Amino acid sequence: MAFSDILAQDHITDHFRKTITSNHLSHAYIFTGQDGIGKTLLAKEFSKAIFCSEKEGDSCNLCNNCVRIENSNHPDIHWIEIEEKAKFLKIDSIRDLQQSVTLCPVESNYKLFIIKDTDRMNEEASNCLLKTLEEPPASTIIILIANSLTLVKETIKSRCQIIRFHPIPAHVIEDQLIKRFDADAGKVGWVSRFSSGSLGSAFELLEDNYYEKNRDIVNRIGVSGIDNLLLAEEVIDSYLGSSETLEEKRQALRRILNCILQFYRDVLVVKVRNVYGTGKKASPLFNEDHKDALQRCAGNLTQRQITAIINDILESIKYIDYNLNINLLVENIFTRIAMLNSSERE
Ligand SMILES: [Zn+2]
Repeated sequence: MAFSDILAQDHITDHFRKTITSNHLSHAYIFTGQDGIGKTLLAKEFSKAIFCSEKEGDSCNLCNNCVRIENSNHPDIHWIEIEEKAKFLKIDSIRDLQQSVTLCPVESNYKLFIIKDTDRMNEEASNCLLKTLEEPPASTIIILIANSLTLVKETIKSRCQIIRFHPIPAHVIEDQLIKRFDADAGKVGWVSRFSSGSLGSAFELLEDNYYEKNRDIVNRIGVSGIDNLLLAEEVIDSYLGSSETLEEKRQALRRILNCILQFYRDVLVVKVRNVYGTGKKASPLFNEDHKDALQRCAGNLTQRQITAIINDILESIKYIDYNLNINLLVENIFTRIAMLNSSERE
């Protein structure tokens, strides 16, 4: 790979081509943007572009440096990441970094430290990292990778150049999925629309059969709506039952609620179209291949009911990360949506 292979982040790769060539690199960067958008990949390509012995401001992928970076085997590049199943980055990892930055590079002009999951550091680790950022040695570049900036301390952010990643357009994700998977057009189209600009998320949705799960949920809601606790039990048994850890359960619930959210969002679009006409710039539907179910629900619900259901699901999604009993949460969510479904019928 090279900078030209990075998807939809030209504003970043163009910037780095220039700064590497003109030798105007910062001591510290934060790469931020949602999960699965290419932050880690770009950190690797950025390292190659700095160390490549054949090309200036980009990588050749063939020289000794490029090959060793590709194989995570370069003595001047250090990756720090969270241990499997750990909640936070270990303070010891940051202390090791604090020591290592004081040493000279082994064979290059620079030493690069790439810290993944920077938004998952406790106070002690954050303070330790801050000390390093306050007095960075001239030959050191530190890249912090964070999905969200809200959990990174202000004092850390203020000492780094922030590099924001853009969501990848759905049509770009669709092209990638067609190239890599033997999946039908309907499935690839839905996954690329549903993945919210994250290629990593698109791969997971395909691998975990979310197109099929969404189809089953839409068929279920489209026929009988959310009218009792039976759907809550079905969701718990069918979609959350196979998850081993609490975090996997939360992720599965997040995805299922997003399926239901996008369904009601489509119902709202159909309802508005029925009332006001399609208009010149019609919003595309997530569930293009379920138009009958969407029409049926749009006929049964008022615009106010649909909006209330959407707001309720959005509110419920926020509670997933709270330390609540997941089964109780699911029952509560579906009971509330059922009440909103029937609130104006009587
Ligand atoms: Zn090279």
